[in-house]
Amino acid sequence: MSGDIVACRVAAVEAASPEVRIIKIEPASGELFDWRAGQYASFKICDQEPRDYSIANAPGSGAIELHIRRSGAGGVSDFICDDLKPGDPVDVQGAFGGAYFRARHDGPLLAIAGGTGLAPMKAIVEAALASDLKQDVHLYFGVRDETELYLERHFIKLMHDHPNFRFVTVISEPKENSGRRSGLVSDAVAADFQLLYGFQCYIAGPPVMVDASVKMLALKSVPKHDIFADAFYTEKQMQAKGEPRPDWT
Ligand SMILES: Cc1cc2nc3c(=O)[nH]c(=O)nc-3n(C[C@H](O)[C@H](O)[C@H](O)COP(=O)(O)OP(=O)(O)OC[C@H]3O[C@@H](n4cnc5c(N)ncnc54)[C@H](O)[C@@H]3O)c2cc1C
Repeated sequence: MSGDIVACRVAAVEAASPEVRIIKIEPASGELFDWRAGQYASFKICDQEPRDYSIANAPGSGAIELHIRRSGAGGVSDFICDDLKPGDPVDVQGAFGGAYFRARHDGPLLAIAGGTGLAPMKAIVEAALASDLKQDVHLYFGVRDETELYLERHFIKLMHDHPNFRFVTVISEPKENSGRRSGLVSDAVAADFQLLYGFQCYIAGPPVMVDASVKMLALKSVPKHDIFADAFYTEKQMQAKGEPRPDWT
């Protein structure tokens, strides 16, 4: 695996929810590499080990947006959530991943996000809507409870601006009766569509949610070549799978 390494700096850190930070990263000098909406990159933040994070914005703005959730295991994501500040150095290597937005598709688009899987789905949905796509675009956002929701207003505004865009939040372990859908996000999609043949489907989030969604889509007659998925494996899971790391030399 290879890609350009670009020296960057943290431009902003925002608490989007108690456990999620939205980070803006800009090149220290020069330009970022090219990427496609939905891809990820490898980030070496301060003196931490490199980690993969999905890019949450479509290319073109000169900056990278990340959504990072605290894992609570004392690793890089905890450092990011607790200690990262504007000005900190970040080396970024990218871009990677095949689950990027395909503009040449004339059927509807379905995006399924679990937790910070919202990041690449945001990039894809925004690229689709910016390209003046006339087809329906559905975004399902699954979280465990209400405290994990973020950017809800952003997507509700996007729904008002684009009549072909539909945004649904699904909460698997609701703590209150907020009127939102409850259950597993893959079950909510399954309940809403009898068949999904002709849809182009994108999925990102925890491996268990991605696996359940891929199985559900197959049962709804989506051929494999119309499913694009990125599971957020941890470093340990990647090593167990024998996945290569980007070369940082
Ligand atoms: C394609 C892709 C995209 C992703 N996108 C996102 C995203 O947009 N947002 C997001 O929040 N997450 C994303 N992730 C997950 C992210 O890369 C990290 O796995 C996550 O942030 C957890 O990292 P961590 O260091 O906090 O925890 P862990 O990797 O679980 O580490 C916890 C502790 O275990 C130690 N440890 C880890 N691996 C080993 C090992 N092999 N041997 C010994 N000790 C070890 C660490 O040093 C640390 O102390 C993505 C993953 C992939 C593969």
